[in-house]
Parts: sequence; C-alpha cells; structure tokens
Amino acid sequence: MTRPSVLFPLFAEVETLPGVGPKMAANLTHMEIARPRDLVFTLPHSGIDRRRRGSIREVTPPDMVTVEVEVGLHIPARRKGGPYRVNVQDAEETFQLVFFHAREDWLKKQLPTGQRRLISGKLELFDGIAQIVHPDHILLVSEAEDIPEFEPVYPLTQGVTQKVMAKASSAALERVPNLPEWIDPALVVREGWPKWSEALLAAHGPKSAADLAPSAPARARLAYDELMAHQLTLALARASIRRGKGRPTQGDGALRKKVLAALPYKPTGAQDRAIGEIAEDMAKPLRMSRLLQGDVGSGKTLVAFMALLVAVEAGGQGVMMAPTEILARQHLDGLKPLAAEAGVRLEILTGRDKGKDRAEKLAALKTGDIQILVGTHAVFQKDVEFQDLRLAIIDEQHRFGVAQRMELGAKGQAADVLVMTATPIPRSLALAQYGDMDLSILDEKPPGRTPVKTALVSASRMEEVVAHLREAIAEGRQAYWVCPLVEESETVDMTAAEERFRHLRAALGEGLVGLVHGQLPVGQKDAAMARFVAGDTKVLVATTVIEVGVNVPNASIMVIEQAESFGLAQLHQLRGRVGRGAEASTCLLMYRGPLGETARRRLEILRETEDGFRIAEEDMAIRGAGDMIGTAQSGLPRFRIADLERQTALMALAQSDARKLLADDPTLETERGRAARTLLWLMEQDKAIRLISIG
Ligand code: ADP
Ligand code: MG
Repeated sequence: MTRPSVLFPLFAEVETLPGVGPKMAANLTHMEIARPRDLVFTLPHSGIDRRRRGSIREVTPPDMVTVEVEVGLHIPARRKGGPYRVNVQDAEETFQLVFFHAREDWLKKQLPTGQRRLISGKLELFDGIAQIVHPDHILLVSEAEDIPEFEPVYPLTQGVTQKVMAKASSAALERVPNLPEWIDPALVVREGWPKWSEALLAAHGPKSAADLAPSAPARARLAYDELMAHQLTLALARASIRRGKGRPTQGDGALRKKVLAALPYKPTGAQDRAIGEIAEDMAKPLRMSRLLQGDVGSGKTLVAFMALLVAVEAGGQGVMMAPTEILARQHLDGLKPLAAEAGVRLEILTGRDKGKDRAEKLAALKTGDIQILVGTHAVFQKDVEFQDLRLAIIDEQHRFGVAQRMELGAKGQAADVLVMTATPIPRSLALAQYGDMDLSILDEKPPGRTPVKTALVSASRMEEVVAHLREAIAEGRQAYWVCPLVEESETVDMTAAEERFRHLRAALGEGLVGLVHGQLPVGQKDAAMARFVAGDTKVLVATTVIEVGVNVPNASIMVIEQAESFGLAQLHQLRGRVGRGAEASTCLLMYRGPLGETARRRLEILRETEDGFRIAEEDMAIRGAGDMIGTAQSGLPRFRIADLERQTALMALAQSDARKLLADDPTLETERGRAARTLLWLMEQDKAIRLISIG
C-alpha cells in the first residue's frame, strides 16, 4: 500500500513552501517540523489581542494596544545607546514610540513626520509618560488588514520568528485537502465538531482566547484525530494478535487446586479476580492479549503461575520471560516450590545456557517434558521450539512496547499473551500505552504488611545514616543502599557505586557489604545477590539494577542516595524492595540540599503514601505524561495537539470508537474505513498500515 496521492502536497519537503529556504528548513527541524504536514499540526499556543482602538485611552497600561496615529517629531538619542523617541498622536492622546539601537534613516522612512500609520505593541508608562518600546507592527493604514484582530502566537525555535512561522503555516494550510470523514458521524454531530480541514483553519485562525482552549471544537477534533489514529493502530495490533489462535485453552483446575491447598495463605480478592479473568480469556478461541498491572508486592507471581497451570492442565506448555537474568532466576526460585506441589516440570533458559545442557533443554521442550519455562529473551530465540505453547507471559517492566507486542503477534504462534507490569500508571497512560490489550488490575495488597516508614534526609547527615545502619546490622537486619544513575555514562555511575561500597565496607566491616551494578559480569552479579539473599552480606550497594522484582524479605532498610534524581515511580519501585517481611521497614531518601520546591513536593508524596496508583497520578501531574515514560521505548507517538494528562475521556472515546470501527469493518474497506486509512497515513502510523495488509 502506498500513501494516497491526495496527501502528497502535505508530505512534500517543507522547502517546497514559498518563503521557506534551506536555512529555515534546517531551523524548523528543531521543532520536529520537516513537512507541511508538521506545520499544519503545530498550532498557535496563544494569541494577542490586536483589536483597533480609537485611542490608547481605551486600555490600561501595561497592555497591548493597536491604534492609528499621526507621526510627530523625531527626538534622536542624546547619547549612544540611549532611547530614540518619536512623538505620535492618536485621536485623543499624544504618546511616544521608543527605539534603542535603531538606525535613524530606517526610522525616518518607517515613520515620516506628518503621515499616518497603524501602530501595534505593548503600551507602558515610563515616568508617567505613555510609550511603546519597539512596536510589534508599524503599518501603512492601507496595510491594516495584514494583522488580524486576534493574532495567533506560534511556538518558536532559534532562527524562526513569529512572522516567518505565521507565513509558513498559512502556506502549508493552503495545501490542506478536503478529506472524507473518519470519525463516527454521530459523534461529530454530538460534539459539534467541524470537518477536518475546517478544524485546521479554525485552529490556526483563533478569533479569541476561547478558541485556544483544548475544549474548543476545532482543537478538540484535531486532538481526537491524533488519539483516534493511535487507538486505531492499537486496535489493529489487538486484532492481529487475537487472530492467531483459534483453540480454547481450558484446564480442569486440578493442578491449581493442589497449589492453592499447599499455600500458607489465601489469595487476595484481587488475585482471585485476575486469575478468573485470565482463565476465562484463555478458554476463548481468540488469542488473549492481556495486561496484568499490579504494584510491587501485590502478588503477581501467584497469578502468573496459576495462568501457567491452566496451560499445563490443558495439556500444553507455558513460558515466562523476564527482562534480566537475575529476575529470571528469581522467578525460578519463587516458582519452584509451587511447581513441586503441582508436580510440574519447570526449567530455566537464559543466554548462559550453552552446548549440551542447552540442547537437552531444547529437546525436552520439544517433547513437552518441560511444561513451564522461565527465562530471559533467550526463550524467544528461533531454535527454541515448544511442543504446544499455550501461554507466554512477559514480565515487562516497561521494556516491552507496542512494537514488540506487534512482532510477537505477527509470529503467528497460537499462544495467549499475558504482560505483567509492576509500574502502576494513570488510566490515561494505560489507555495510550496498552490500549491494544485487556486489563487485569491487582489493586489490593496481601494482608499483614507493616507500612514502610519513609524519611527525607540531607546528604550532609551521611555519617548519622551510617551509624544507624551499623546498629541495624547488629540487630540482624539487612539493607539496600542505592546509588543513583545520574551521569549519562555507566562507568561514572559504577565508579560512584564502587566508591560508596569501599566507604561502607570500611565503616561497617569487610565481609558485610556487597556490590552489584550493571557493569559486573553476570556471574559476579549473581554471586553478590546470592550472598545477600543468604544473609552473608548485610548491606547491598547497588545501582538501579535491583529496581525490578528482587525479593529479600529480611531486608528492611532502603537507603537511596540523591533521591531527587530519580523518577517517583522508580523510587516507589525501589522502596517496594523492603517491607516484605514481618519487620517494620524504613526508607531513607537522601538528597543533596537544598531541595527546590518541586523536588521537595515530589519526595513528600512518597512520604505520604505507598499507593502506587496515587503516586503515578501525582507524578504525571508534576512532570507531564511525555516525561513520565520514555516515549520512544513505550511506542507512544508524540502527540502534537492531544493532551494525555487532560484528555483521558477523549482517549477512552477514541478507543471504543476505533475498536467498534474495526469490529464492523476489519479490513477497513467501507467508505469510512477507507477514510480511516487516510487518517493513519496522515498520522504516520506505518506499522498499523502494514497490519491492515496482513489482515
Ligand atoms: P509482585 O511480583 O507483585 O511484586 P510477589 O508475587 O513477588 O509480588 O509477592 C510478594 C510476596 O507476597 C511474596 O512473598 C508472596 O509469597 C506473597 N504473597 C502473594 N500473595 C499473597 C497473599 N494472597 N497473601 C499473603 N502473601 C502473599
Ligand atoms: Mg514480582
């Protein structure tokens, strides 16, 4: 499939626009503007009131004013660099135009004494005299039409002025074609939205501040277009993933019963609900594509294992992939006792498996002897074949975006897919990032946890913290000490961690302190972890490699250095490493003072709550959605108009609209379906377009 020709003018080089040369084009790339298309989607962010006034008396300075004047005497600067003044007179009042460093001959030409001009700029009082310093506009009265009464103000970048931007935008707008409607007609009517092309003209030509509000019909429509294109992409991904199965996976519950009977606890209501949702989904002939979202410690492992058992009960196999070696091993250790209860064969496969060992495992997978496999991405290598893979669980921790899920979907395996994430995210982001999936949420923690006591401590009190740690160790407690990832380079961070390691070892005792960081060879890393898990070392100095999943119940102290440099979600994750045992736990957030107001507010949220969902909402409110997730890796497009934080309802609407459109017209062949294809092209959703052709 190729781009519809009606869009060609919008997708030409931006230099094809009149008035845009190579230099300007280069400058525009700093605003991610490469084509006329990008210009039309770059809307003015504010506007200036340039209504004509009879006299400056009608406004109260400081304020913008636009009046016709008769030019009076010029009063050149008395000293170099001093103000050059020009007296002017409107219908009722005399005032001055003031210029610095302006050339006299230019000023004389612009403002000849005795002639009339239209002046627009900011009126101020200086020593009681009304003046406009460097007016924005000086026009012949006959040119007055050149400035609109409400002048749009565009975002700018180095080397791109308002004038140039306005001109380029209006040239780009002339290339906007009429396109058939892709939005549900009933919705368009209900919301009172203009047609696409009209919406663009209106959004670039606001008549008042009200037209700049995100809720103004033209802007809302354009935002919806972006969200709709994104949700259509997700809906296509969802459809392509779901297509690849055709066979229900239904267990008799026997293995699950055994495991539940052997557990020392009862599943929480949320765990029961999630297990039920997953089993029901797997029983359907469509392929499952589901996200299990649960805060650290909410008990995702049990839910995952129950789902794997459904696959085994049905006579098939299950696989669980973790992002790192350490986590894969921890899954193995956590699942082993449960697997033993069920009498199920569980194995691990990582990049470290080589030679004969690996060959044996692969053979056992192929015959179905291994029923459950955990591992790293090595489990998805080409030569890994299952006898009957029914369920793939991806413990993603934000490293697995829409693009990867699409790839997994395109593999055409008949396995159900469950993605687990320990990062609670606000609803709007969940819709944007995982809109292709169905959602199960663990919003309830297992009972009997003592809350983690969280405190902010200045780094200047380092020695007190170390002394406190010494006492805690004497009482048999264990602690994590997290060094920040502040520098771009891992080597620098590693050095910081090594230095802290030496410092703490000297202060607390040689054999009591361990070290892990991303640069260590896997063997050393695992050995250090193992010593900490076994309780041989009491303090584990680490970079954020311990962020995800690691479970050491006896560790009840978490010290985080330069906490202000971490994201809230990350701090919450780190803190989740403690508070897992019966012991009361402490989290010390050390900062390099003095903290700015925002930084302090962020850290204080952690002190106030342990609810990951609330922390996520606050984090987004402070930082903005774009900042909260690495856009590139999440597969989220950069929305130019839509506002993820404030337009959640619009996003939800777009999701149901997109899913419905695809349900009615899976290959997008109807008139509206074809219009929707054009939308996808317009929004550069190339991946989605490829998915249509697969269908
Ligand atoms: P997550 O992976 O969601 O962070 P885990 O699955 O590792 O959480 O569970 C954390 C701890 O809680 C584990 O030690 C686990 O055995 C325990 N746990 C899980 N579910 C329950 C429950 N319903 N009641 C009590 N403890 C539970
Ligand atoms: Mg876990």
